[in-house]
Amino acid sequence: MYSDLIQLIRSHYRTEGSIPLHAPTFQKKDRDYVLDAINSTFVSSVGEYVDRFEQQLAVVTGASRAVATVNGTTALQTALRLVGVDYGDEVITQPLTFVATANAISHLGAHPVFVDVDRDTMGLSPKALEAWLVENVVMKEEVRRGSKSVLQAYNKTTNRRIVAILPMHTFGHPCRIEEIVDIAGQRGIPVVEDAAEALGSYVGKTHCGLFGDIGVLSFNGNKIITCGGGGAILTTSASLGKRAKHITTTAKVSHRWDFEHDEIAYNFRMPNLNAALACAQLERLQKILMEKRNLAHVYSSFFKEANWAMFQGEPENTCSNYWLCAITLEDAALRDTFLETINDQEITVRPAWKLMTELPMYVNCQAGSIDNARWLQERLVNLPSGIVA
Ligand SMILES: *Cc1c(COP(=O)(O)O)cnc(C)c1O
Repeated sequence: MYSDLIQLIRSHYRTEGSIPLHAPTFQKKDRDYVLDAINSTFVSSVGEYVDRFEQQLAVVTGASRAVATVNGTTALQTALRLVGVDYGDEVITQPLTFVATANAISHLGAHPVFVDVDRDTMGLSPKALEAWLVENVVMKEEVRRGSKSVLQAYNKTTNRRIVAILPMHTFGHPCRIEEIVDIAGQRGIPVVEDAAEALGSYVGKTHCGLFGDIGVLSFNGNKIITCGGGGAILTTSASLGKRAKHITTTAKVSHRWDFEHDEIAYNFRMPNLNAALACAQLERLQKILMEKRNLAHVYSSFFKEANWAMFQGEPENTCSNYWLCAITLEDAALRDTFLETINDQEITVRPAWKLMTELPMYVNCQAGSIDNARWLQERLVNLPSGIVA
C-alpha cells in the first residue's frame, strides 16, 4: 500500500541504502573552521568563533542580541530564569513537545502546566490558553523590587505564581505566537519561545523567537544546522541580552587578570570549537532551507493525491523551515503498521513524541483538556527530512 511513498523517498534521496530521519551534512568549510579553531588553541570558553557566531546569528534572525550556549536545554533554563522563573513557580507549556521543554522548567524547581495545541500548527493553542487562564488564574497585587506594585497571575488551585508561558514551534511550523503574546500580555505574563526547531522559520517577516521576551534555538546533531551540541538565546532587548551573556558565563566581571564574579551563575557558554562548526553551518543556512522547502513540496504534492494521509503544510502567513516533515494518517489504527512497513525498508519514520502528560515525571502535573495533542500523537508521523548530502 505504501510502495508509491517508498519509491518517492528513494528517488528523492537517490539511494537504495538506508535513509535516516534527519542526518547532518558536512562540507569542506566545516572541517576547515574546526581545524582552524584547534590550530588557534582557543577551543574552549573564549575565542573568535563564539563572537562571530553570535553576531552572525543576530544578523540572520534579526535579533538585537544572540548568546550562544552549550545546548538548547540550558538556553531554555537561562531564558526562563531571566524572565523571573524561580523555585516553586509555574510555567505553562504544551504537552506535545520534546522532553527538554518541560525539563528546563523542572531544572529551575518550577512546575510545568500543560495546555493544548492547535491541530494545524501543532504548537500551543491561543484558544486553549485563553480558556485555561480564564478558568484558573487569579490576579493578585504584589510589591516588587523597586517598590512598584504590580498584578501577578496566580493559579487558583495550587496558589503558585504563573511566571512564564513557553510555547514551542513544532517541527519548525510557527505556532500562533502573536495571539499568544497578546493573551499573555493582558495578564503581565512573559513569553519564552522554544524555537529550538525553528531556525529559519518566520511569521510574516519576523523570525520565530523574537515575538516573546526571549527565544531559544538548538544546534543539536538532528537540528536544521548543527555544531555537535549547542544552543542560543535570542532577544530584542539589549538589557536581557546582556544579562543572558552574563549568567551563562559564570557572571564574571571583566578584568584583565582578576577572578571577580558578582552572582551565582552558570557555565553554559558554547565552546569555541563548537562555534567554529556553527559558523560554517550558519553560512549554508539559506541553501539548506531551500532544499528542505523543495522536499516539503515533493511530499505535499504527493499527499494531495493520497487519500490515506494529510501533509502538515506551513500555517497561513508563516514560513516554516520544514525541519521535520509530518503527515497525519486518516486512520490512527494504521499508524504502527505504517511505521513498521516503512522502517522495514530501512527508511526511518517516527511517531510524534509521547505526550509530556504521559511521562512518569510529569504524569501528575496540572493539564487542561488536551484533545488536539492526543489526536496528533495518535496519528502523526515524521518522514525523512534531511537534505541530500
Ligand atoms: C532540540 C530541542 C530542544 C533543546 O535540545 P538540546 O538537545 O538541549 O539542544 C528543546 N526543545 C525542543 C522542542 C527541541 O526539539
